[in-house]
Amino acid sequence: MTEAPRVLIWWSTGAASYVAAKLALRQHPDALLVRCDTDNEDVDNYRFEADACRRLNRDITTIRSTEYRSVWDVWTRRKFIAGRKGAPCTSEMKVAPRLAFQRPHDLHVFGYTADRLDALRYKRMTETFFELHTWAPLIDNGVTKFGALAIVERDGLELPRSYAMGFPNANCLETGCGKATDPKYWALFRYHFPHRFDRTAALSRQLGARLTRIDGERRFIDEIPADHPMLDPIVPACDFLCAATDWDGDE
Ligand code: SF4
Repeated sequence: MTEAPRVLIWWSTGAASYVAAKLALRQHPDALLVRCDTDNEDVDNYRFEADACRRLNRDITTIRSTEYRSVWDVWTRRKFIAGRKGAPCTSEMKVAPRLAFQRPHDLHVFGYTADRLDALRYKRMTETFFELHTWAPLIDNGVTKFGALAIVERDGLELPRSYAMGFPNANCLETGCGKATDPKYWALFRYHFPHRFDRTAALSRQLGARLTRIDGERRFIDEIPADHPMLDPIVPACDFLCAATDWDGDE
């Protein structure tokens, strides 16, 4: 017997996926909110998730890798953090569980925003995974990242603390995102989470992983000067493209 197609809202514990869920549930009240468990989110993301679930009156379906416990587990056992072809944490903790969970006719709902680069990334994702049925309701409704933050607050929800700290997205703040190369991102991560930074810096040294780039040169993150600027850090989006291509948002 063929299994029925479902509507899967990919939940990331951030503001954009909340708005995607809110918009999608209006049209598909039986949709599932699905999160790939990385065991790598900041504790306040889980607080936001619990608040959002109460507001939406839905539970989260959590899916996870059958081989790895966490992003950290992937990095240490694979002895690799990230490279030009992508990040193994994405392929192991996000893509593999998604492939195991999805059915051929499911509709996949994503929280890509109407900001130009995010919309381009969504286009790229649909071209890469052309076999998927996808929908980006924020793009259809013209909701930008800034607009998504406003909608969350208007709904009476307290945003994950990472936004007020200056991070452009809330992903993987237990370790910092291994795909991030911007020294401003790592300087900000070190400022807010010095112990987590030290742990990732030590593993990077052990693996020879020069995660950042300063003046065009690959450097270890513990080489970033103590007074390095932290404003407007760039961190790549973490989605199914991370493992499929080295394209990271630049045109
Ligand atoms: S956000 Fe970064 S560290 Fe986390 S799974 Fe994605 S690529 Fe890996």
